[in-house]
Amino acid sequence: MSPRALREARVSLEAISANVEAIRRIVGTEHFMAVVKANAYGHGAVAASRAALDGGADWLGVIDSAEAMALRAAGITAPILTWLHGPDDPLADAAGASIDVGVSSIAELERAAAADVAAVQIKVDTGLGRNGAEESTWGELFERARNLERAGGPHVRGLFSHLANAGEDADAAQLVAFERAKQAAASAQLVPELFHIAATQGALRRPESRHNLVRVGLGCYGLSPFDGVEPASLGLQPALELSAAVVSVKRVPAGTGISYGHTYRTERETSLALIPLGYGDGIPRHASDRGPVVINGERFTVSGVIAMDQFVVDVGDASVAVGDRAVLFGDPGAGSPTATEWADAAGTINYEIITRLGPRIEYRNVGGR
Ligand SMILES: *Cc1c(COP(=O)(O)O)cnc(C)c1O
Repeated sequence: MSPRALREARVSLEAISANVEAIRRIVGTEHFMAVVKANAYGHGAVAASRAALDGGADWLGVIDSAEAMALRAAGITAPILTWLHGPDDPLADAAGASIDVGVSSIAELERAAAADVAAVQIKVDTGLGRNGAEESTWGELFERARNLERAGGPHVRGLFSHLANAGEDADAAQLVAFERAKQAAASAQLVPELFHIAATQGALRRPESRHNLVRVGLGCYGLSPFDGVEPASLGLQPALELSAAVVSVKRVPAGTGISYGHTYRTERETSLALIPLGYGDGIPRHASDRGPVVINGERFTVSGVIAMDQFVVDVGDASVAVGDRAVLFGDPGAGSPTATEWADAAGTINYEIITRLGPRIEYRNVGGR
């Protein structure tokens, strides 16, 4: 195996394939969309897409034409859906590359038609309050879509929505609203082949939300969207391990103040290890004095404030040397802390921890099929 980079995100492509396989077995839907937006949640869009397809995904989901075209440029020919377009999104590029365009309004539908998009999927708002067409507009939107389709315009391949995960009752109400949307589409004589509303949470916990396609992001990367539920109990394995080499170790006396503001002070003579990762690399400053780190199999906590480029770990009398690996998060099955623990330490969600890693971190893919 290649020598470790100073700051390294090691992505197990095998884990991504296996996670897709595991979730496919659970959901049993005809179609499986791996959501690879935002550089595959920080895992590397092209390699993660290939790994997900190897694991049995038959669709890829990204937000816009730029993300979709990057996959096409890398030679990925699988079906792709996009669903969040700026007013200047180059839909004609998407059209030329056989990319399905998700449309949330008549205006977006008209733009897709004008760009000669071959297939659209209509997004309806069933209670998330984000994008998606408002229920009051469904009749007019579906009718326009049918007329365009009959006139040789975009085929309406799918009808979809997104759950707010706002609790049992709210989710159930959204599923009922989605049924109304399906009926309204049928009344307008649209016959989409794909119906989808579930992301990872719905796919794993709400069988009635699966329809014939699930759009799974977080689960593909092996993380759990549920509080207090370990990935392993869902059959998932975290695909990304973030680590860095210890760059200095020094012995200091009791009472030494550490990092800006001296929020941490050594209680006795001890050793300090310096880790070259900071908020400039996406390590949340909010996890100062709390984030977990494993060095040589032993678990420690960030000591003091996380700076832009570095943080300190009080390692006591443990034998830690320059060049040893400090693992911030990875697979708990291998003894690593998890991205979820970092999220808890920082008051955020694991999605944000993995997605925000910065450009100074080197990515290494391992274990592709
Ligand atoms: C990001 C996203 C998903 C994937 O969500 P996960 O919770 O990561 O599975 C699915 N659908 C849409 C519309 C999204 O924006």
